[in-house]
Amino acid sequence: MSLSEYSKKRDFTKTPEPHGDAVQGQEVPVFVVQEHHSSHHHFDLRLEHEGVLVSWAVPKGIPELPGKKHLAVRTEDHPLAYAVFEGAIPEGEYGAGQVKIWDRGTFSPIAWGEDRIEFTLQGERLQGRYLLVRFKKAGEQEWLILKAKD
Ligand code: MN
Repeated sequence: MSLSEYSKKRDFTKTPEPHGDAVQGQEVPVFVVQEHHSSHHHFDLRLEHEGVLVSWAVPKGIPELPGKKHLAVRTEDHPLAYAVFEGAIPEGEYGAGQVKIWDRGTFSPIAWGEDRIEFTLQGERLQGRYLLVRFKKAGEQEWLILKAKD
């Protein structure tokens, strides 16, 4: 539940990104997918869990076809306020570049484990059941995200 890694990486006098602590969330957890035009264009998937947004960088975006798998690299937890963040992270700062919300909504967790997270997204673009599974062969932070057959 710690946001210390998030805070350590950022200078809040320079970046417009939100800061803050873990907070009590809403009854229905939220998710967001942000398109991030940083040095390596990618999408960030964030799922509310225990007062923070648990986060993955997904280079190819969230798969929309059942059975499709995309690499998702776990990144530091973000504050809940990040779910509504859009803006430009200035040059020279961590993650410099434009951040835009690509999709957001609520999700229903089905199972939340160390190596496997199953959930249903209720977004504007993304709908249906998804799986995040650890991809240990590729590394400590590597996961795969796949759309399950409903
Ligand atoms: Mn990012």
